[in-house]
Amino acid sequence: MNNISRRNFIKKIFLVIAATLSMSYLLFRSRESFRSLFSSSSLSASLSASGNAKKKGFPQGTEAMYYTLMERNRIRCELCYRNCTITSGRRGFCRNRENRGGKLYNVVYGKPSAVQIDPIEKEPQHHMLPGTKMICIGTAGCNFRCRHCHNWHLSQRSIEEIGRYDNYTPHDIVRSALNRNIPTISFTYNEPTVFYEYCLDIAKQAKKEGLNILWHSNGYIKPAPLEEFLQYTDAVTVDLKGFSKKAYDNSDAELEPVLESLKIIKNSGIWLEIVNLVIPTINDSMQEISEMCKWIKDNLSQEVPLHLSRFFPSYKLTHLSPTPINTLERAYNIAQNAGLHYITLGNVPGHEYNSTFCPKCNTILIRRIHFNVTKNNIVNGSCGSCGNNIPGIWQ
Ligand code: SF4
Repeated sequence: MNNISRRNFIKKIFLVIAATLSMSYLLFRSRESFRSLFSSSSLSASLSASGNAKKKGFPQGTEAMYYTLMERNRIRCELCYRNCTITSGRRGFCRNRENRGGKLYNVVYGKPSAVQIDPIEKEPQHHMLPGTKMICIGTAGCNFRCRHCHNWHLSQRSIEEIGRYDNYTPHDIVRSALNRNIPTISFTYNEPTVFYEYCLDIAKQAKKEGLNILWHSNGYIKPAPLEEFLQYTDAVTVDLKGFSKKAYDNSDAELEPVLESLKIIKNSGIWLEIVNLVIPTINDSMQEISEMCKWIKDNLSQEVPLHLSRFFPSYKLTHLSPTPINTLERAYNIAQNAGLHYITLGNVPGHEYNSTFCPKCNTILIRRIHFNVTKNNIVNGSCGSCGNNIPGIWQ
C-alpha cells in the first residue's frame, strides 16, 4: 500500500467511525425525546431525578390481585370482564398481567409511560375543584380495543414496545404532587384497571397525605376490585362508549358490564361524571343518545354530569369525519329534554356549551373556554345567583 492509498484508507476508517458515533448519538437523542414526550417540562426534572433512577433489586412488576390458580398452573384473572385464562409464560388480553409459573404478575407496576400535569377540566371533571391541576398517570396496555382510541400509542402497546419510567414508586408520585401543591392524582390515558395494583398503592398513600384521587375508566372492571378501589377514590369519570351493541363492538367489548359499574359507582356515593364521545356512524343516532340519557336519569341521577365530546379521526377510524357541531348540539338538546341537569360539549373550544349552567336559574355557573375556567360562580357549593345547591367537590 503506497502512502496515498494508506492515507485514503485511514480517512475512510475515520469517516466510518465518525458516522457510527453520530448515528448512535441521534438514536440516543430520539429515544430521549420520545421519553420526554410523556412528561410536562415541569415534571420532567423530578422524574429524571427519582422516577428514572434504577434501583437495585426492583422486581419486574408486582404480584397481581384478583386471580385464581387452576390446574396445570393456568390462571383465571378476575380483575375485569375479559375473564382471561392465562397459561404459564403468557399474558392476558390487556398485555399487562403475566402468568409466571402459576403466579400472576402486573408487569407495569412502577413503570408509567405517561406522567403529566393537566388541568382537571381535561379529564374531564367539571364538578371537582374547577381550575385546579392534577398529575395524570398512564401505562402501556388496555382491556379494550377501541378503533377510535386517541391514546392508541399507549393503550395498544405492551410495555416493551414503548418508553417508560423504570421505577416511579407510589411514594415518588405522591411527593411530586405534594411538592407542587397539586391537589389531585388521576389515573388516565389508558384503562387504569390494567395497572390496578399500582393505582391502589398510589391511592392509599395519596389519601394519607390528603390528596384527591380521580379514576378515569371504561368501567369494565369487576365489582369486587371496583368496590375496593372506590374506598380510596374521590371521583370517577367513566367513558360510556355508546348505548348499543354496535358502539361496544367498536371497542371489542360489551355494554352491560359498564352499566353495572356505573350503578356501583353511583351507589357508593363517589362523585361520578360520564363522557360520551359521539362518533359519526358508530354511536351518533339520536335515538341511541336519547335512550342513553334516559337510562342515566332513571338508573343513576339527573345530577350526573354528561360530557358529549367531539370525535376527531384517529387510529383505525381515520376515514371518518370529525363529529359535526350540529350533531353535538342536537345531542345536547336531547340530553336536556331527557331531564339531565349538567350537560357540556367537549373538544369544541369556545362553544357556549363548554360552560356549565345552573339548572334552576340558567345563569352560567362555570364559564369555560375549552380547558380554561374563566369564571366560577359557585359559592359554598351553591349557585352564586339563585342559591340552588350544585352537587360536586368544590373544596
Ligand atoms: S385485567 Fe387483563 S388479564 Fe385480567 S381479565 Fe382483564 S384483560 Fe384479562
